[in-house]
Amino acid sequence: MLVKTILNFCHKFNSFIYQNVTLQQDHQNPVIIVKIIARANGKKFCSICQRQCPGYDRLPPRRFQFIPIWGIPVFFQYAVRRVNCPIHGVVAEYLPWAKGKSHLTEVFKIYLSQWAKHLSWYKVAELFHVQWYHVFEAVKSIVEYGLQYRDLTNIKALGIDEIQYRLGHVYLTLVYQLDTHCRRLLYISKDRTTKSLLRFFRYFGTARNAALEVICCDMWKPYLKVIRKKAPQAINLLDRFHIMKKFNEAIDNTRRQEIKQLEHDGQEPLLKHSRWLLLKNKDNQKESELARLKVLLRYNLKSVKSLLLRDAFQKFWSYRTRYWAKKFFDQWLSRVNHSNLVELKKVAKTLQRHEELLFNWFKLNDHYSNSISEGFNNKAKLTIRKAFGFKQFETIEIALYHQLGDLPLPKLTHEFF
Ligand SMILES: [Zn+2]
Repeated sequence: MLVKTILNFCHKFNSFIYQNVTLQQDHQNPVIIVKIIARANGKKFCSICQRQCPGYDRLPPRRFQFIPIWGIPVFFQYAVRRVNCPIHGVVAEYLPWAKGKSHLTEVFKIYLSQWAKHLSWYKVAELFHVQWYHVFEAVKSIVEYGLQYRDLTNIKALGIDEIQYRLGHVYLTLVYQLDTHCRRLLYISKDRTTKSLLRFFRYFGTARNAALEVICCDMWKPYLKVIRKKAPQAINLLDRFHIMKKFNEAIDNTRRQEIKQLEHDGQEPLLKHSRWLLLKNKDNQKESELARLKVLLRYNLKSVKSLLLRDAFQKFWSYRTRYWAKKFFDQWLSRVNHSNLVELKKVAKTLQRHEELLFNWFKLNDHYSNSISEGFNNKAKLTIRKAFGFKQFETIEIALYHQLGDLPLPKLTHEFF
């Protein structure tokens, strides 16, 4: 079967013809060249406004990279005509297989971007005979399309999270949609300031802001302030994930202080390399780790006591009614306040200060799962980590939308993957 036959089957145009297909040597590497010509009676269109225009002249032949066949790069070759548009003047004609000055066909861009969801961008470039910046260009163009055509109706639940994307205090604000029918990353903003979140609400628009029912975030003052102002009708919730994050920070700080104290007292460095031991959920711990934890317990360390009080707090989420949860919370608070755990007391105080937001959980029982934010946070961290070498905000922004945005793809007549 001829390559031309396959192309006509899955990637056919009205005004252009696949003329012939040849195997050539390009710097001693084989390449497949597919020559395209315009149909004799075909109409010409402006590439900017897509209006039918008279022809002007013809440029030298150019190559457009297509999906490789059996590991051999495939290029379309076509001499682009210029048209004389009454609005845009002399410009290149509209091509159904590629946009602007891009060296990649649209189909190849979608193909590369789909692989870039599963492999690192470097690996994709290597596998498909392109440069890293071609993969970047492909993903960027698919993300831009997706952002333009995604559906923003019927959004009721949001999650707001901050994430560190570079060493030092360099943060991003991420806004997720957390509805049961659709969960995805909606918006990325630089920093974690009042302005960061205001940018989202401005983009989202007054009507959509007013339709929000639940917003879930952590106890970060700038966020809480903006939510009160822009979506006062929504129930603002502190979710389990963000509260656990606070506990873990407190335990980690306590552990650091104790290491210093133990070293100072000439005790063996019991707590070194125990960070994960302390922060991990009990259910995920191996037996050897539990044995080590038991040894730590004997020393009656503050970090271990904090850990036990953190785990005791988990019971909060199992209550069905606000009344009993409140009783439990007050008892837990009194245990913490009677302890000598300075860091944990700080967390308790923060929780007490935001008690109303904490107890909003009982207004939503069963309507909302408490741990979705955590899943997203882990995926976002993984994307940032996998995207090593991405220093620019724009690159990270595109990688995150690509992985977590659940964006619609341009429609194709044939699925190439
Ligand atoms: Zn035009």
